Amino acid sequence: MTDCIFCKIITGDIPSTKVYEDELMYVFNDINPKANVHLLVIPKQHIARLDHLEQSHQQLIAHMLLKLPELAKSQGLDNGFRTIINTGPGGGQEVDHLHIHLLGGKNLPGFH
Ligand code: 5GP
Ligand code: ZN
Repeated sequence: MTDCIFCKIITGDIPSTKVYEDELMYVFNDINPKANVHLLVIPKQHIARLDHLEQSHQQLIAHMLLKLPELAKSQGLDNGFRTIINTGPGGGQEVDHLHIHLLGGKNLPGFH
């Protein structure tokens, strides 16, 4: 049994507000949103961090990235959106299951 909270969200052992799901990825609302819209986009396969990706993950990552504009539109973000991937302690990553933050809406602060 995994201790990973995002793996438990995928299996439903931890509840989440699902926005989208397919065979490769799962998308849900961040529990502590930093913007009007704050989604977390994760692979169903447990990959801990961006720097653990391998060549064999190419198709998976391309699939996730290509889905982002559609997800943003589904949340009413017609004017653009922000994506963030934190990697490791130096990047502020708190959950060790690769995730793309998708943020947007009113009051999105500048990023300096
Ligand atoms: P990180 O800092 O690792 O890039 O981001 C982790 C994100 O996961 C944070 O924005 C945090 O609010 C979110 N998060 C942590 N635990 C849970 C949870 O149990 N459910 C949901 N929906 N989000 C979570
Ligand atoms: Zn996991």
